[in-house]
Amino acid sequence: MERAALAAVAPLFGASAARAAASASAGVNHSPQPVLTIGHITDIHIEPANGAPAMFRKCMDQVLAHKVDFFLNGGDSIMAADYKDITRDRVTELWTCWDDCRAYLKGYDIYSCIGNHDTWWAAPNQEDSMYGKDYVVKRLGMPHRYFSFDRGGWHFVILDGNNKGVSLDEEQMAWLVKDLDGLAANTPVLLMSHYPIIGVTPYWEGGMHSDYKELKTLFYKHKDKIKVCLSGHQHLQDSASYNGVQYFCNGAVSGFWWGKGNEKSATPYYYEETPPGYAVLKLYADGTLENHYYPVDYSSSTAG
Ligand SMILES: [Zn+2]
Repeated sequence: MERAALAAVAPLFGASAARAAASASAGVNHSPQPVLTIGHITDIHIEPANGAPAMFRKCMDQVLAHKVDFFLNGGDSIMAADYKDITRDRVTELWTCWDDCRAYLKGYDIYSCIGNHDTWWAAPNQEDSMYGKDYVVKRLGMPHRYFSFDRGGWHFVILDGNNKGVSLDEEQMAWLVKDLDGLAANTPVLLMSHYPIIGVTPYWEGGMHSDYKELKTLFYKHKDKIKVCLSGHQHLQDSASYNGVQYFCNGAVSGFWWGKGNEKSATPYYYEETPPGYAVLKLYADGTLENHYYPVDYSSSTAG
């Protein structure tokens, strides 16, 4: 998407004008620099098999070439811990593989979401240290199952939609309302969820938040702040826009779960028409942004 088109929807005309004036006074007609460049990686579904670690590293090399400041990880980090027949050994194997891959990005902050496939529900009991979301929070180094933080003048909100009907539970919704209420006017906000809040592909794939009406109403109340919502889960890339908020579902690092695909794959390794890949976001001080999805070609990768 072209930056010019995005700038047209930016409400902070004053800030844009001031920046343009600053450029003009310096006598240099250059593009403004983003305050942050972020790699959005989602649906990694890492596993030791199918050459996944090697393909992951290939993908990360390409993300790092963009000189990202940090990563946002949209969830489903491991292949799948959530099915009924998954054993403790398998869950341990998957998280060990995650640790190895995480080490490849040593030195970079990664802020993660919990995905539906990350949680082990088949533990012998709920007191088991590996049961449920708390263990995922621990393995992904998250401060809580939902949280927020500030960087580069932007406010970031990480949500947990793994609740009844794909939604924020009551406690989390109250927290989000308070979190947004506490921000100064015009603070640019990026939200990341595993599931799309609003999107195109849920029309035929499902998978969207069920509390989207409540969320879009909350976002409208904070329309001076909420700029962008990122998601994954669909393994499909789309974008939508509503009330000045841009919604990007950014495909999947694993594409077709590291496999060559099926009859619906437009090209080997694709899920339907979306190639495996990642997004790079450039965030600007005036609340404008760019989101670009980069495909990664795994066809020459060797298994092992
Ligand atoms: Zn998912």
